[in-house]
Amino acid sequence: MRRIAILGGGVGGTMVANRLARELRSDIDRGDVEVVLIGEDANHTYQPGFLYVAFNQAPLERFVRPQTSLLVYGVRFLQMRALRIDADNNSLLFENGDLLTYDYLVIATGSHPTMDTVAGLKEGAYSFYTADQAIRLRDALANIASGRIVIGVDVPHKCPVAVLEFTLMLDEYLRKRGTRDQFEIIYTYPIGRLHSLIPVANWVEPEFERRGIQSEFFFNVDNVDPDKKIIESLEGSSYAYDLLVMVPAHRGAKVIIDSGIGDESGFVPTDRYSLRMKGSHNVFVIGDATDLPISKAGSTAHYEADTIVTNLIDELHGLPADHQYDGKVYCFIEGGLEKATYIAFSYTEPPKPTAPSELLHWFKLMYNEIYWLSVRGLL
Ligand SMILES: Cc1cc2nc3c(=O)[nH]c(=O)nc-3n(C[C@H](O)[C@H](O)[C@H](O)COP(=O)(O)OP(=O)(O)OC[C@H]3O[C@@H](n4cnc5c(N)ncnc54)[C@H](O)[C@@H]3O)c2cc1C
Repeated sequence: MRRIAILGGGVGGTMVANRLARELRSDIDRGDVEVVLIGEDANHTYQPGFLYVAFNQAPLERFVRPQTSLLVYGVRFLQMRALRIDADNNSLLFENGDLLTYDYLVIATGSHPTMDTVAGLKEGAYSFYTADQAIRLRDALANIASGRIVIGVDVPHKCPVAVLEFTLMLDEYLRKRGTRDQFEIIYTYPIGRLHSLIPVANWVEPEFERRGIQSEFFFNVDNVDPDKKIIESLEGSSYAYDLLVMVPAHRGAKVIIDSGIGDESGFVPTDRYSLRMKGSHNVFVIGDATDLPISKAGSTAHYEADTIVTNLIDELHGLPADHQYDGKVYCFIEGGLEKATYIAFSYTEPPKPTAPSELLHWFKLMYNEIYWLSVRGLL
């Protein structure tokens, strides 16, 4: 029997586990293969939902399901936290002291925002990158009547377009409340344009102008004074704020750092085409956990799952595992509360955002529901 262990029950891990179990059903039934998914949470959360929670467009519960309700026949689920990955000895060590050996490992441990990399951030800023932060921000937005809202961004972070979506949605949220003229919105960004992807920056620039959203480039957040409510950049500029919303820098999972297999931010060095951990033949990496220079997004994990699942199945069946990931990413971008656009790109193709439309907004809302099929490996 050969065991495939998948560590991390988020988008990438759940998709890989379900698709392997479907496609290897006969091997599993014969006892030749075992698919084990290890996740620390009993629930699975659809993180793009946090944007809608922050603007009180939907309750958090709509985006949370029990992990076991999403798993197909053939996936053995262990609700455990891994403390160490021992890639030399093909084993995982768990919090309770148990060891699990594997023939193949898929690392799908994601990334998480850290509010403690900048002094004063935890005390002075709001965010929408976790469920708790989105709820806290929702309540703060509901209770603020006027003032200056400053938006700050640190890198790296997942879903790089989410901060633009947030800013455009904020503008419309305030307009809908009839209070937009009581607010200044100031969007800051670490480099010399509105977004790291040039076509996206070009697309959003006129949107910001039309809506009177101010922006400051080359603003790398240095510190926040939560008492005086001032944010300062490394470049020397500062803003007083009434509400500070921050997309903080992300890090890879603790288990990656503790196992000594990540870079200084906790991301796993990964071959950009085969998605194998560099220097390893039997460890694959998916989604936010990789160190690849592409967007950390659920759709990235989705496309990467195609490559990993196909290669694993071929390898188990004695075929050459020669499928390659082409860097494909597809993201809807909310252009406010009622319109959206999308971008699709790869290692070789740049994104080409089009004008936002109501239809694409409805597609995005539909995808939020279809996601539950997609993560079961049905799409
Ligand atoms: C506000 C917001 C909006 C977003 N919008 C979009 C969007 O529109 N489109 C898009 O494509 N993406 C979007 N994303 C990004 C997307 O959610 C992530 O990129 C995606 O979830 C990454 O999938 P993953 O499987 O790599 O990691 P995750 O889904 O984060 O899963 C990682 C899992 O590993 C588990 N884990 C970690 N360490 C351990 C351990 N030691 N033991 C056991 N389990 C462990 C974690 O608990 C977690 O469940 C958005 C994210 C946010 C926050």
